[in-house]
Amino acid sequence: GIRLKDEMVRVKQILDAAQIRFEGEEDITLHKASLLTENILSMCLKEAVTNIVKHSGADECRISVEQTWKEIIITITDNGKFKRDKANLEKGHGLRGMRERLEFVNGSMEILTNGGTTVMIKVPNDVK
Ligand code: ATP
Ligand code: MG
Repeated sequence: GIRLKDEMVRVKQILDAAQIRFEGEEDITLHKASLLTENILSMCLKEAVTNIVKHSGADECRISVEQTWKEIIITITDNGKFKRDKANLEKGHGLRGMRERLEFVNGSMEILTNGGTTVMIKVPNDVK
């Protein structure tokens, strides 16, 4: 398993290698999140960033991580173009896998497409 903080380091390297500018905080540390939650968030972050590199054509990616008393919210936005290809949507496992894993921790995912793509992931805080 991998902590979100470590996955952030990796995705920044992936973005850098693809010459996509990263915007967001350099250092994120979650307060009392279970390892399962962090592993799932890390997997989702990695898949969302992989999708940006593979599909979006973006030159900028913005990642924010917020934690409130209630939940953790990760927002990943690119300035590329969402490929609304029906064949692709059915073929791919990435987005489906993210939703399935998020269900294990009562999380949810929303995708907003407005030119570029915004993936918003929410999971409840599970450590009191
Ligand atoms: P896999 O993840 O199994 O390797 P995939 O990436 O094609 O395959 P998904 O991750 O489920 O599958 O994504 C489904 C489709 O949604 C993609 O094929 C692509 O057309 C579109 N898509 C997803 N994210 C983005 C993005 N950031 N920009 C543009 N298109 C996207
Ligand atoms: Mg994918």
